[in-house]
Amino acid sequence: MSAVAARERTPEELRDLARSAGRELEDASAQDILGWAAETFGHRFCVTSSMEDAVVAHLASRAMPGVDVVFLDTGYHFPETIGTRDAVDAVMDVNVVTLTPRRTVAEQDAEFGPKLHDRDPDLCCAMRKVAPLKEGLEGYDAWATGLRRDESPTRSETAVVDWDENRMKVKIAPIARWTQDDVDAYVAQHGVLTNPLLMDGYGSVGCAPCTRRLLDGEDARAGRWAGRAKTECGLHL
Ligand code: SF4
Repeated sequence: MSAVAARERTPEELRDLARSAGRELEDASAQDILGWAAETFGHRFCVTSSMEDAVVAHLASRAMPGVDVVFLDTGYHFPETIGTRDAVDAVMDVNVVTLTPRRTVAEQDAEFGPKLHDRDPDLCCAMRKVAPLKEGLEGYDAWATGLRRDESPTRSETAVVDWDENRMKVKIAPIARWTQDDVDAYVAQHGVLTNPLLMDGYGSVGCAPCTRRLLDGEDARAGRWAGRAKTECGLHL
């Protein structure tokens, strides 16, 4: 399916579209959900990726070759994550768009003191993730994420298509109903790129200062902001 030129829609039209599609596509396959997104939004649709794996980027590139894959480079990523981003850019039929925060890590340290992530992770995420994504999504009407209901209790109600009131965008979670086994099977079947840290004890990959390996029996996101009440960076709240 090739991308079509998207017509301009008002926020009200987008909101109504999101709500009706959320009902109609609840049982649709990930490929059908992304096919709908490509057909409905054309180049005003993008995928966001943390470069934990390239599953949604791979699915989206089949629906819309050359699709924009937006990556937030917080300045705190593991080298393996940057390497995965570069590999996705090199070998997949996608257009990787890297967003950066307004301040470098050095500038943030100078203004707020070092290791803000240890003292006020919500403020650090707000400046290094939430604000750049909000600005970066301005040119799009819809964005897709790799959120899944089985990842954590906070994600158990994730809609396959929803209205993102905060950003005034249609938010799409094409693999919301997938399990980890579904992801593993898709990766194996299609040889999809994954972050090497997933083979090195990490269940979920975020910024290096806020991510640790999993302990026995922990759920996949337990290594993010471990020991803190924080479970989300704010991108999905
Ligand atoms: Fe800062 Fe940690 Fe949030 Fe990354 S995950 S932006 S280092 S608080």
